[in-house]
Amino acid sequence: MPHTSSPATASWLHQAIARIEADYQRSADTHLIPLPLPAFAAAGIDLYLKDESTHPTGSLKHRLARSLFLYALCNGWVREGSTIVEASSGSTAVSEAYFARLLGLPFVAVMPRSTSAEKIALIEFYGGRCHFVESAGEVYDAARAVALETGGHYMDQFTYAERATDWRGNNNIAESMFTQMQRERHPVPRWIVVGAGTGGTSATIGRYVRYQRHATQICVADPAGSVFAAYHRTGDATLTAPGSRIEGIGRPRVEPSFIRTLVDRMEEVQDPDSIAAMRALSALLGRRVGPSTGTNFVAMLALAQEMRTRGEQGSILSLLCDAGERYLPTYHDEDWVRRCLGDCADAGERLQGRMA
Ligand SMILES: *Cc1c(COP(=O)(O)O)cnc(C)c1O
Repeated sequence: MPHTSSPATASWLHQAIARIEADYQRSADTHLIPLPLPAFAAAGIDLYLKDESTHPTGSLKHRLARSLFLYALCNGWVREGSTIVEASSGSTAVSEAYFARLLGLPFVAVMPRSTSAEKIALIEFYGGRCHFVESAGEVYDAARAVALETGGHYMDQFTYAERATDWRGNNNIAESMFTQMQRERHPVPRWIVVGAGTGGTSATIGRYVRYQRHATQICVADPAGSVFAAYHRTGDATLTAPGSRIEGIGRPRVEPSFIRTLVDRMEEVQDPDSIAAMRALSALLGRRVGPSTGTNFVAMLALAQEMRTRGEQGSILSLLCDAGERYLPTYHDEDWVRRCLGDCADAGERLQGRMA
């Protein structure tokens, strides 16, 4: 690749950035939905979910993909014709395929073979190509190799997610949440709960609340099999784990974008509890949510319970990361759940008790 900038390169670059900015200008913000939970409302505790499923590509990864493209373009890492390569468990690849198509760039997603057929279909819909590996741990090296072969650019969400987004504000997800809370009875959240895949969302929100000097604390809901909870306890970045069974969150290795010092608390969540919470929340909202939103809801209820016990009032915010429609044959299918994650009946009863 030549390391000089010609006027033609600059002109393509300017047009590419302008296209992403125009796409952003056409977009609306996502809703903040209050959860109807009378038992907590009576105790002065309000729960909300920011609905990230309504982005054009259906998940909070739409924000990340936009940030990663702008960061790569401004760094001079992507030029006209560059193949974009990403290691992904699915959602990031769907969103990056959308932006690659917007810029007329080829896109290759490197994913575990277990990735849901719905996500694969979406990546291909946006003109992307899927390159499969057998296990989640192989995606990084395979993505680097594909980038080398194609002379393309490995986007590397797991490294750059924490730095590609403007954490001080500039309409990031945290600033949007605080603005949307302004007319609520507890406008400054006591807790914000997020899952961690890259760790980018927890890093952006964590930095924002400190910079703005809010009293809000950050809780990461970590699924069974993920390494993040043990890393948060020990600080040992060489730790590994078997890997999570909740798509989108929980990782087998400590990702560089997971910034431990920005997280005040970890809540470890068992898979049957995530599934039970996903189902209960879907019933409560009248629409299906994805499994990682269930994991978030379990942690929200644990924090709400604690606040009530201590006689503390306030609000708890989290994210509706993606909709359940992507998971109809998997997490929303009873047989699949029983086969892959086990029986969730007890967890369902426990959860009903926690919502009361
Ligand atoms: C990526 C993802 C998350 C976690 O977000 P990060 O910013 O990557 O930590 C949560 N839920 C879903 C469905 C995701 O795809």
